[in-house]
Amino acid sequence: MIKPKTEEEIELLRENAIIVSKTLAEVGKAVAPGVTTKQLNKVAETFIRDNGAIPSFLGFEGFPAAICASVNDVVVHGFPSDYVLKEGDIVSADIGTLYKGYNGDSCYTFPVGEVSPETRKLLDVTKESLYRGIAAAVAGARIGDIGYAVQSYAESFGFSVVRELEGHGIGREMHENPGVPNYGRPGRGTHLVDGMVLCIEPMINAGGRAVYLDRNGWSVHTADHKNSAHYELTIVVRKGRAEQLSTFDFIEKDGKIKF
Ligand code: MG
Ligand code: MG
Repeated sequence: MIKPKTEEEIELLRENAIIVSKTLAEVGKAVAPGVTTKQLNKVAETFIRDNGAIPSFLGFEGFPAAICASVNDVVVHGFPSDYVLKEGDIVSADIGTLYKGYNGDSCYTFPVGEVSPETRKLLDVTKESLYRGIAAAVAGARIGDIGYAVQSYAESFGFSVVRELEGHGIGREMHENPGVPNYGRPGRGTHLVDGMVLCIEPMINAGGRAVYLDRNGWSVHTADHKNSAHYELTIVVRKGRAEQLSTFDFIEKDGKIKF
């Protein structure tokens, strides 16, 4: 039995989620051809610390940076590096915070300059698959309903769902039960109850779903080296409609930047 969060805990998770959401927007403003992923890491780490939070990924099981910066065929857990972003790339920024004893965790895949129509489609479909997953995360439903919603939408465009990684509960720990797979069957798995806080995070590949682990022991690549996109939001399961704690509004509703 997974204990739902109290409203007090949810408020602390919301504070984290807002810091992460704003950090993603700061990173988004910095994304451009000619910028290195290390520079993005610096922007994020500075913003997180300026807001009194701790970048929770740094040192997590030995992870070497404040953010995961996953470029093109890297699905997740890319190391920020001296790689210089170029027009047409995509870069996923996955960001975590620890603030007042609770965690934040969200991700956005940014296009670098103009991307191909195929890549734009991958980004749009992956983000929409996340929203479909969120729409399925209501009290009385089950974990399999979320995965089914994500998978059926993404696969209808010929894209594929990474199976090796999944979303999760979040609270005092960054990763709590239940796991939230991005594939599944309706009516199966853990029962969703009001107050359960989940990170839903589809990782969708333009090509096949097979992936492999980089020699660095962390970064996951697509086996066919086609692009992969990743969007993640933190939500509260509620009756009738899930409540979003993190948001992409700071990225997408800023007049200066348009994704
Ligand atoms: Mg994440
Ligand atoms: Mg996560």
